[in-house]
Amino acid sequence: MLNLHHNIIVMKNAFLFLLLFANSVSAQKLKKADKIIIDSLQSEIGFLASDRLEGRRTGSSGEKLAYEYLSGKFKNIGLIPKGDGNTYTQIFEMDEGKQILPVTHLLINDSALTVGKDFFPFIFSAQGVIKADASPALLEKKMPWFWDIKDVLEQNKNNPHFDIESAIKNKALDFYSKGASAVIVFNTGDIDDGLSFNGKKKEDTLKIPVVFITKEAAKKYLNDNSSTYEMNLDVAIGNKKRDGHNVIGYIDNGATQTIVIGAHFDHLGYGEDHNSLWTGAPAIHNGADDNASGTAAIIELARMLKKSKLKNKNYLFICFSGEELGLYGSKYFTEHPSVDLSSVDYMINADMVGRLNNNTHSITIGGYGTSPSWGNILESKTKYINVTFDSSGIGPSDHTSFYLKNIPVLFFFTGIHEDYHKPTDDVEKINFSGELQILKYIYHVIEQTNNMQKLAFSKTKEPKMEGARFTVSLGIMPDYAFSGKGIRADGIIAGKIAEKAGIKAGDVIIKLGDNSFSDIYSYMDVLSKYKKGDATTVTVLRGKDELTFNIVF
Ligand SMILES: [Zn+2]
Repeated sequence: MLNLHHNIIVMKNAFLFLLLFANSVSAQKLKKADKIIIDSLQSEIGFLASDRLEGRRTGSSGEKLAYEYLSGKFKNIGLIPKGDGNTYTQIFEMDEGKQILPVTHLLINDSALTVGKDFFPFIFSAQGVIKADASPALLEKKMPWFWDIKDVLEQNKNNPHFDIESAIKNKALDFYSKGASAVIVFNTGDIDDGLSFNGKKKEDTLKIPVVFITKEAAKKYLNDNSSTYEMNLDVAIGNKKRDGHNVIGYIDNGATQTIVIGAHFDHLGYGEDHNSLWTGAPAIHNGADDNASGTAAIIELARMLKKSKLKNKNYLFICFSGEELGLYGSKYFTEHPSVDLSSVDYMINADMVGRLNNNTHSITIGGYGTSPSWGNILESKTKYINVTFDSSGIGPSDHTSFYLKNIPVLFFFTGIHEDYHKPTDDVEKINFSGELQILKYIYHVIEQTNNMQKLAFSKTKEPKMEGARFTVSLGIMPDYAFSGKGIRADGIIAGKIAEKAGIKAGDVIIKLGDNSFSDIYSYMDVLSKYKKGDATTVTVLRGKDELTFNIVF
């Protein structure tokens, strides 16, 4: 599941209680058919969550092992390939912003500094080569200028609106206008600057290179303010791309409608993408519950439906990648579908279904409000399951992409736990017989719709999304894959501020009050500074028009 806005803190108390009861597999007698499913779930989750797959990070060799394994499973079951060409895999490219290219280097008096450790260019730095004998004490035209940020950090230490990186950018613009050929920034003070190369930030590029020399390196290589240093700098910044792979298989019953059943199989790798909640040394995030559990559920449902007598609908099974980074795989699929989306009856998403609590038997089903029919179809209590319904079609997982295409969705989820997005989300903690009951529940939903007409779609209100860090929200669903400047609203949540103000899906929000922002990170920073009752303006780009709306949080 996607770690949006770190909104899980609120649920902490609940899972401490639940933990006491996890894992005590209930002593119900199992039928032979059930035993076979449980054995399969064990072997599938066991494989996907093994260290060999190194956390199935999108674009990694672990992801490859996973999608090859899943393609093999789909083939064995007899599913029709519905990926690219005649294969099960559908490749999508993820724009990851920019990266520092290896040719980048900095020599000071012939000592080579290590890029990343000793120095780095800022995302707004120009590319290019500078060779000069320069002194921190001098501000000569056509030479690199130096700036120690110690004082500006000190002056702004109590200013919550201060952003050191934009201060550096402004200073570099000023230096450039006065004739500097490059800017070398360093910090000799005690206040932590927190600076690093952030390739996901979207910034205009300046006309001159701007680099930061870290504290240790500055101590070592720039220790005398009055001396002249022979500088040899080359900055090269390029695009960063990564390929993700969805796995797609189909059961063609010759029906007019298709039910989509999906689960993401990617996870956090070693936590390289900064979406882990683990604070220890880098470690493999096995993601047994998140979401080997849902992936295995999809395989087992495919097997069950292939053999079943339910023939009035076609079934499309999708294992998504790129989910943990922002629903990339499901979004790509809904933009490049391999079945006609208008024939899709509804979509079922299983994300984290491996931790059914044997005491409470409690699961959450999201998307309850996305069709008026769900109320008649879904049971709130069975012998093994107690359901809490969540109306919203928007949530932290792949069903959101389908809901935004006006398709009814259901999102199955056994709940947040202590191991969520940590290396301890392991196969030993999976409740297999509990997952079997969820499989049966899903199968029963499909069974009931077999003789029904295509379900009607309805829009839903208020998702449980924006979380603890924020006291206010605009009520937009950001497009995490948008690569332009600003925040593109993928969806507008009914009844919230953005909708009331007149902001529409597709608008690109570029300013809140006087605060502009370039990407989702700076947007969240700006948003976190507002509180309820604050009046401000929202500036958006709609096509080529710039529009401004008045809002009160
Ligand atoms: Zn997750």
